[in-house]
Amino acid sequence: MKSNVFVGVKGNGLVESDIYQDKYDYMLVSITNIRYRDSVKKQYGKLKSGVLQDLHIDAPQLQDLGVPALKASENGVGFIGLISSWLELESPNPDAGEMSYQVLRYEFEYARSYGIKQVILAPPRNLGNLNFYVQKIARLLYSIQNDRPTTRLPLLSISLPLFEDTDPLSTWELWNTIRKQCKYHPLLTITLALPRCRTPSYVLNRWLAEPVSCLLVSSSIFATNQYNYPVLNKFNQELITKFQKINGDAESNLGELTVILHGLEKHVDKIRGGEAIYLEYINYLLKKGDKMIIPQHADSFWDKFPRIMSPLQPNFDNLSNEVYQTFEKDKKKYDLYEMAINQALQYIVQEQNKKWMRESLTILVAGAGRGPLVGKAFECLKKMSITNFKLIALEKNPQALLYLQKKNFENWANSVDIVPVNMRKWDSSVKVDLCISELLGSFGCNELSPECLEALQQRNCHAKTIFIPQSYTSYVAPVSSPLLYQKLREQGASALQSPWIVHNIPYCILSNKINELWTFEHPSKEPTTTRSAITHLKIKHKGELHGIIGFFTAQLYKNIQLSILPDDSTVRLHEPPLTEDDTGVHLGIYKKINHTVNMASWSPIFFPLSQPLYISDDTELELSMARNKDCSRVWYEWSVNSYVYIVVTDDGKPTSAPCNSLKNSASRRKFVKKASGPFPSGKKSDEVNKAFANFQLSPQVLPSSDIEDSTESLTESNVDDNVDTTELFERTFTGKSEFISPELSGWKSICDIHGLGNAIPYLFENDEPILEDQEDKEQSHYEEYRARVRTNVTELHNLGGEAHSIKI
Ligand code: SAM
Repeated sequence: MKSNVFVGVKGNGLVESDIYQDKYDYMLVSITNIRYRDSVKKQYGKLKSGVLQDLHIDAPQLQDLGVPALKASENGVGFIGLISSWLELESPNPDAGEMSYQVLRYEFEYARSYGIKQVILAPPRNLGNLNFYVQKIARLLYSIQNDRPTTRLPLLSISLPLFEDTDPLSTWELWNTIRKQCKYHPLLTITLALPRCRTPSYVLNRWLAEPVSCLLVSSSIFATNQYNYPVLNKFNQELITKFQKINGDAESNLGELTVILHGLEKHVDKIRGGEAIYLEYINYLLKKGDKMIIPQHADSFWDKFPRIMSPLQPNFDNLSNEVYQTFEKDKKKYDLYEMAINQALQYIVQEQNKKWMRESLTILVAGAGRGPLVGKAFECLKKMSITNFKLIALEKNPQALLYLQKKNFENWANSVDIVPVNMRKWDSSVKVDLCISELLGSFGCNELSPECLEALQQRNCHAKTIFIPQSYTSYVAPVSSPLLYQKLREQGASALQSPWIVHNIPYCILSNKINELWTFEHPSKEPTTTRSAITHLKIKHKGELHGIIGFFTAQLYKNIQLSILPDDSTVRLHEPPLTEDDTGVHLGIYKKINHTVNMASWSPIFFPLSQPLYISDDTELELSMARNKDCSRVWYEWSVNSYVYIVVTDDGKPTSAPCNSLKNSASRRKFVKKASGPFPSGKKSDEVNKAFANFQLSPQVLPSSDIEDSTESLTESNVDDNVDTTELFERTFTGKSEFISPELSGWKSICDIHGLGNAIPYLFENDEPILEDQEDKEQSHYEEYRARVRTNVTELHNLGGEAHSIKI
């Protein structure tokens, strides 16, 4: 695995004499200098006084540049550019906005022509005007792309704090709003400033799936160890390692992550080792991370390269030799099959002793490929000294059949009956004792295992036939994966209606459970292979839903299980199991299941949504999935509904504050769940405003204060050039930011649409056991009703299998 993680530093502004030059991969430098700011200010003044008629800002000259011309491309060190922080892209004043846009464009153009791979832009200072800011960014990205579609363009990275205490997802929400309005432009990325305190895991997981191209590490977040060397807290060390593991894969254009150190000169007198020690420390940390990450995959035959693939159709297409070769390297899978075959044979020998002594034991490998499972069955029979057997291999791929014939001759003493046939049409009255197959896709049933095995069950099985696998179950969870959405969108509308196999693409599961959807058993009790299911999942934290991720587990034989669920998954079962097994830890209707260690044959399946869905805090999602079939095809259809809960008093009126997590204590019952929508209303919106106000003042967050040379506002009328810029910065940034006016709250319109003001809503039906049920009963005299309000509904995807179907 190649590491795409680099280390950068905020330069001292004098590139020629910079002490950092040859030690770092990247230097962070302002693209233009203070001279340029002054010149732009003068031009703006002339426009205001009427001397200039048209607002046209001059391009920076050689002496205006922070990164000297040619240096960017010639020097060994790479450069990351800082866009001037005095720009007022969000200004409601059209002239100031236009002037800022022109400077942004010049700086971006300069970065492009000198091979600077990314530039960092400060977030808007006034969130009330966020739309103006976004308009300028979108205009830049879309116009520059149209101008030069073939040239490599720099990334435009917005700097943001990783989180703020008041609402830990508020900065993510700001980012989500910007990138949504910019239509998920692939050049738009994020630069995250590491916090001083521990990041909640749900916030970190969210960012890990986002296109983060830089991590800003200020010297002020370092502590000192007993030798007085600067060190990061354990949680920040782990945070960097987690990002290191992603290896820039959540962003596809550059596919790099740069850890940028800054403010190194600030605390040198208080630590040992001088400024250089910070770099040594980060290098040590990254090396340690490499060791932790790489050995895990060293023997993996899958490359780590992220890929999105259409699901294989081995029933219809003939797999290539390369594909077989890759699968056959998955030792873990075949070891588990061997264990299952061994145990099943032992059972047959013991339980059906008389039968196989009289007649031969018949074992069928259905879909034998190039023979790995035939080989395993042959070895098991040999080990158990069973000689009276009939071993049949069915395969319809002519290429694979050649390998089977060769192996039969060389390894299996010609004892295997190789039958070149489509197993669904095998015209034979042979009854088998053991039927072994591996016809499983990432969703379990998506490579037509149910149809193939059902056909065999009808013709070639007796009452005691054992199947390996005995059953397989499909699972679903809602996910956010901006990269998946971006990539599929590029491929056109039908790509967003088809399922995909996603290998190594970062995603974030929005629910804390993964739900069982359906199971196929062999032998089956009923012949139908169609399925449809509706399943509910609670989403605690707001997010952007891009689709449904699917996994499977297969019970090969008794307790021998394959699982492609992520490690440590909490799975919600259809119903509590009658007997508990040891394939996971049981907790009533929930079960903890891990991924089968070192098994790599399957990556998850992804069912996209044609449009991303914004989910507010405490939403319930209803996922509907169907497996449909006609005479020639099988296809999946899916859709999502979202709901929030409100509490309605007995006069039929909803109360007015948010109700978190549906816990029924009397105090919480007084609140109403807030509506979904990008910006919360009511109490929360004040918190969001506060959060942004805080980060605007926080010196470690913005490149503009800690990193940028000058932060002076150009339109500030009484600017005194001698005033300390930090002070200026604070003055400029303390303005009240109206995030959204309460009148615009989406909640009011939801009440109107559903007529909640006067109609009696239906009673809350919750399908999960609520711990406070007892409390609920005791407090029934409150006469409040919980109503479930539908807030969003998606289209039914892949309707009639129009975009994707599996050919039978
Ligand atoms: N058992 C092999 C292994 O583990 O490497 C192959 C597994 S591969 C996923 C599935 C195999 O089943 C392929 O070789 C495919 O050609 C075969 N297959 C799928 N549908 C079939 C059908 N209807 N009749 C016969 N063979 C089929």
